[in-house]
Amino acid sequence: MGGYSDRIKAILLDIEGTTTPVSFVVEQLFPFARQHLEAFLQSAGRTEAVQADLALLREEYEAEADDLAAEEAGDKLPKWKGKSPQAALPYLNYLMDQDRKSTALKALQGKVWDQGYGAGELRSQIFPDVLPAFQRWQADGKQLFIFSSGSVPAQKLLFRHTEAGDLTPYLSGYFDTEVGPKKVAASYRKIAAIIGLPPPDILFISDVAAELQAADAAGMATLFSQRPNNPYPNADGFEVIQTFEGIG
Ligand SMILES: [Mg+2]
Repeated sequence: MGGYSDRIKAILLDIEGTTTPVSFVVEQLFPFARQHLEAFLQSAGRTEAVQADLALLREEYEAEADDLAAEEAGDKLPKWKGKSPQAALPYLNYLMDQDRKSTALKALQGKVWDQGYGAGELRSQIFPDVLPAFQRWQADGKQLFIFSSGSVPAQKLLFRHTEAGDLTPYLSGYFDTEVGPKKVAASYRKIAAIIGLPPPDILFISDVAAELQAADAAGMATLFSQRPNNPYPNADGFEVIQTFEGIG
């Protein structure tokens, strides 16, 4: 399965555990959103964009309340009292506690990060070999893409505000789970179709073997990223790299 071949014309990269330490995402990025959500809702909660996110969140909340009522477990869900933007906080905290994939929560977190990056309070970490690899791959005519479960706007922010500067000029496109789940082969076929290359011309690098299996099933080349302190060190037979040095 997988491996690197000379025909690679595009490289598709996972973020967490591949370009970026998992610890940055877990210990800095998500806690930053949690710590700043209340102040953000206070200052920006009545803007049109945030009102739209909150309306979507309310829909998600009501759908969940209906489901839970049917299961007679409605007492698990926090109350949403009043009409102020901050009234959404107990439910937002509940979603974050459970690490739930809420579209509205993701949109709000993205706006908090946008402010944090813009104010210089937040800067993303990448592994030291990432920028040299991006430069080398770009010079070599390879196109670079990202596939991450974080939203595309959040991905762009992360690469725009790294400790090594703005890396977005090196990236040709971004994919999130709008194209499909990361462990499903069809998602990789769709990405290849959008990029406009046959899957074997695309190399996917990730720290999660199940994602590589899906990419491999779609016909992509694959490499397993084994970075320090990654949570899933089992490469499951895929070719392992510890750095982007020496790739292409
Ligand atoms: Mg990952």
